[in-house]
Amino acid sequence: MTRVLAIANQKGGVAKTTTVASLGAALASMQQRVLIVDLDPQACLTFSLGHDPDNIDASVHDVLVGSQKVSNVVLETSDGMTLLPSTIDLAGAEAMLLMRPGREFTLRRALDTVAPEFDIMLIDCPPSLGVLTLNGLTAADSVIVPLQCETLAHRGVGQLLRTVSEVQQITNPDLSLLGALPTLYDARTTHSRDVLADVSDRYGLPVLAPPIPRTVKFAEASASGASILAARRNKGADAYRALARQLLDHWQQGTPLATFDPYAK
Ligand code: ADP
Ligand code: MG
Repeated sequence: MTRVLAIANQKGGVAKTTTVASLGAALASMQQRVLIVDLDPQACLTFSLGHDPDNIDASVHDVLVGSQKVSNVVLETSDGMTLLPSTIDLAGAEAMLLMRPGREFTLRRALDTVAPEFDIMLIDCPPSLGVLTLNGLTAADSVIVPLQCETLAHRGVGQLLRTVSEVQQITNPDLSLLGALPTLYDARTTHSRDVLADVSDRYGLPVLAPPIPRTVKFAEASASGASILAARRNKGADAYRALARQLLDHWQQGTPLATFDPYAK
């Protein structure tokens, strides 16, 4: 059975793209066949994994408008993943999709055609709650919300959770919200902890463990065209490996996901 996980938050800069690239590479290193889907017209995922969006013949845009099959568009990455790339053309798919009946199901139908070839699909949602994110959430069976541990991180979380709940009611009753993933986490300050405790109280949202620490390795990795897993051993890569291990145990054996207690000693 193929697992499809969407990484969504309409806020930009919270590490959605970084999470898809790093978690995907960690899962691939654990012998999983991983497809990562770039659903953002900014194409940062595509670019950060060494493919120039300006030199790509066909992308997820062509798949969504029905002019290409997924299998003709995918690219390989140096981390052993398969990438369904994006280009700026995708910005136009949004308007086109709006005109179609069943528009929320377009990505799901496309991914179904390659499901037998993959164990896990990760979807990098754009920073909006528009029709592309609705396609991502409708195609997924679970969703993780990366949360940057800074003041006002909770702003917009309520709206995102309402969108998830609408998707569960209307287009995808099987969608499960796994929780918030703390990103850009600074263990040395109490501030990050206070932000997480606040979000978890306010929305009753599980906070997943381990938090992803802030480290410059991520910027170095995306500049190099590979994920952070390809870099020398570092705490950012270790955190994503631990999360990957947990997700696999959860999916394969039903082990509950560990949660993070901000005030645990
Ligand atoms: P989003 O997709 O939500 O917009 P990105 O994944 O593009 O966010 O991350 C935004 C920026 O933060 C990028 O420059 C990325 O390299 C950086 N970044 C992401 N995670 C970390 C981290 N744990 N530590 C330091 N920088 C990070
Ligand atoms: Mg992004």
